[in-house]
Amino acid sequence: DNGIGNWPTLHRVRHPHRVALIDATTGAEYTFEQLDLRTNALADALRSRGIGRGDRVALLALNSTHMLEVVFAVAKLGAVAVPINWRLQAPEVQYILNDSGARLLFVSPQTAALARAAAEGTEVSGIVEIPSGEQRAAGEPSEYEALIAEGSDERVPVDVAADDLSMLMYTSGTTGFPKGAMLTHANHHWNGINNLTAGDGVGPRDVNIASAPLFHIGALGVITLPLLYIGGTTVVLETFTPDAWLDAVAKHRVSVAFAVPAMWAAIDASPAVETADLSSLRFGISGGAPCPVVLIESLTRHGVRLCEGFGLTETAPNVCVLEVDEAVAYAGSVGKPVLHMEMKVADGEGDEVPPGVIGELLVRGPNVFVGYWNKPEATAEALQDGWFHTGDLATCDEAGYYRIVDRKKDMIVTGGENVYASEVEQTMYRHPAVAEVAVIGLPDEKWGESVTAVVAAKPAAQVSEAELIAWTRERIAHFKSPRAVHFVDVLPRTATGKVLKRELRLRWSGDES
Ligand code: ATP
Repeated sequence: DNGIGNWPTLHRVRHPHRVALIDATTGAEYTFEQLDLRTNALADALRSRGIGRGDRVALLALNSTHMLEVVFAVAKLGAVAVPINWRLQAPEVQYILNDSGARLLFVSPQTAALARAAAEGTEVSGIVEIPSGEQRAAGEPSEYEALIAEGSDERVPVDVAADDLSMLMYTSGTTGFPKGAMLTHANHHWNGINNLTAGDGVGPRDVNIASAPLFHIGALGVITLPLLYIGGTTVVLETFTPDAWLDAVAKHRVSVAFAVPAMWAAIDASPAVETADLSSLRFGISGGAPCPVVLIESLTRHGVRLCEGFGLTETAPNVCVLEVDEAVAYAGSVGKPVLHMEMKVADGEGDEVPPGVIGELLVRGPNVFVGYWNKPEATAEALQDGWFHTGDLATCDEAGYYRIVDRKKDMIVTGGENVYASEVEQTMYRHPAVAEVAVIGLPDEKWGESVTAVVAAKPAAQVSEAELIAWTRERIAHFKSPRAVHFVDVLPRTATGKVLKRELRLRWSGDES
């Protein structure tokens, strides 16, 4: 049995009493033995509800240890988990339910109304509520625990092959309609192997905190699943706040953590970070969106060694990451490929370009997905000769360090020159009044596109458009510097912290392309 559902079983044999999961709300701990028995029982209960090999089981739920149990139980059945972003609107959730053909849906009390509205008219024939942190703390009986009590804790007799699908993970839709990336058990297995050396290496004695939303590949795949694969412990936080995160890190002696840049920025800006006990934290990983170098520097001063990695839903997700001791010297780089990953920066023909030249990043390896669900054309476009075309523009230097310069779709062409948003953003982040910045291109009759910055200033900071433009022009070429700066309170972001540049372009130009 090569499925990820087998992972808890492996550790039940090796060290049954080691803690696999900790519920940060209640403090409840689940050993690998308990995780294996509970997920056996859940799998059996789902089987009696008619769920079998290949069936899709969706999750629209806040983070919990139970959500991870569902992933393992579904895997034991050879069924396919479909984690869904609960910040979507009902029609968007409905699109994913219909596209995936999900038959069963796990929800939280907080997402139940959304789930019911979205499930109307779809193939979903049952909705199961996972109790909220508050309900778990109060020890309330739940439909979820009843389901576990109902199943037999013997392993369900299903053989799962490495190439069977384990997950349909929808891309966040930053650049368009979400596509269901088909991830196999082998993809997760190899991603796990790849991550053993990520950052500074992750080992069975590590304690991880899952605080980014588990419906996203970052929270699941960067540390949580790999660590469960090798027998380490994961603390699950229901809702991220900097204070809850800092408390849980100190309380559970957390040693490794993944978060997206927006979360690291919130931790860095929290007054509590000054006095928090972060002595157990060996390193943090940032990924999912570009990380401002100033943030890496500031967190280093707070004792958090943060290294940046790059990945995508389609790669389960890790592609490359910096080593911890390189994090400051190479800040702004996303490091070198993880163990079994090949990367190349290519021209339009797929040929590798020389060091330092910008091209599209192509990646190849055993953690690369097998295609988009129901989308043969998108699959053929994305996967060519075994290489996955990421849609990101990057460079690789002589020493083999990669830098992401922009998404292809976000690149700005002004007066015939290409401008890469991240260079302009990294520069503007260095201005002391700038809390958040996104650089976009807006249609312009004279220039084709004009470089425009959207800025959220730090609280109580005073800064003008003219000052920011002049400041940037002193540091980078004039054609790269913004011609206009718009101020906002906060930038619009996806639930996983990506800036919605589409929305910004629409707001200031009426053009969504
Ligand atoms: P969609 O394809 O629907 O727009 P998405 O690309 O946002 O969705 P994800 O798989 O969540 O879906 O995100 C992957 C993208 O995140 C990458 O293609 C890249 O643009 C961005 N990204 C991830 N890590 C980094 C990083 N360290 N630096 C810059 N960009 C990053």
